[in-house]
Amino acid sequence: MFENRKIDWNRQPEAEEGVYTCTQCGVPLFEAGKKFDSKTGFPSFWAHLGENVQQHLLQTYGRDRIQLLCHHCGQHLGHLFQDERTPSGVRYCINAESVAYQPSSKLDS
Ligand SMILES: [Zn+2]
Repeated sequence: MFENRKIDWNRQPEAEEGVYTCTQCGVPLFEAGKKFDSKTGFPSFWAHLGENVQQHLLQTYGRDRIQLLCHHCGQHLGHLFQDERTPSGVRYCINAESVAYQPSSKLDS
């Protein structure tokens, strides 16, 4: 008896081996496996990759904000927020235009 069970094994929109790279200079910034669904509409992550994400403390109007920059080319990537929902307790809120998804890791590690 043939059972037509519909299991869509390919339904992994962004495989966890992929990385997000800087759209300006191409260095890897975030791992796809560390993406976090923040429901804000911004791509969000809970950890960055390697040393390519620079954190820059902004003190504006008495409020501290942490700006995220590409360490290689200086492109503004987004901001870092405290977020108790993530495994790391912080959330990287990223501008969609500043990162590009690469399906498989091109890191020479
Ligand atoms: Zn860059």
